[in-house]
Amino acid sequence: NTFEELDFHEIIQNNIKLTNYLKPTPVQKNAMPIISARRDLMACAQTGSGKTAAFLVPILNLIFQAGNEQNCVYVNKRRKLLPVALILAPTRELASQIYDEARKFSYRSRVRPCVVYGGSDIKNQMRDLDIGCHILVATPGRLIDLHDRGKVGLEKIRYLILDEADRMLDMGFEPQIRDIVEKRDMPRTGFRQTMMFSATFPKEIQHLARDFLRNYIFLAV
Ligand code: AMP
Repeated sequence: NTFEELDFHEIIQNNIKLTNYLKPTPVQKNAMPIISARRDLMACAQTGSGKTAAFLVPILNLIFQAGNEQNCVYVNKRRKLLPVALILAPTRELASQIYDEARKFSYRSRVRPCVVYGGSDIKNQMRDLDIGCHILVATPGRLIDLHDRGKVGLEKIRYLILDEADRMLDMGFEPQIRDIVEKRDMPRTGFRQTMMFSATFPKEIQHLARDFLRNYIFLAV
């Protein structure tokens, strides 16, 4: 019933204290140990349930454990960025909120989050990406654009999160999502860990879960 019991790295514990979150919400209490145990996850959770921290905190902790933050960021000679965590979100608003939370939890660490979304100058985003980052938050269309331009590669992705998956499908993003997950350089299931969050669990989401997740745990809160 406390964040201490979840045994995260002390930098993360400190950052949780700075956010003034007193205790984990139900989705956090349930999802955090599953993600920390490196299991794929299908979680049904509403906006406002604290789902963003539910995936960001354990992923940040796994990045620390793997020492990936020590190796710093992967940017190859052609300035192509290779993030280890990718979070797909339906809108620029949600993407920026996730990014803001990621900044809070990675404060005073070497882990760098980045955000890219459509409807905003791509040149600024490309300049930001050139510095490199570990955690990339993106809307599907803009990610495909940057990938087509050779600015970002997916081959190092260990953690893939689909946030508000039902909303992404409602907005017609299924072809883009399948393109990103199935047709490019994204590692296969088993190599990457995949987590899906959705408020509802209709047929279309069940199909995505079947295709993207391996041996997953289903969580409804
Ligand atoms: P989310 O569902 O991730 O969009 O989070 C909804 C709101 O709850 C956000 O403003 C968070 O900052 C806040 N929040 C998340 N986790 C906690 C927590 N454990 N205690 C208090 N507030 C939280």
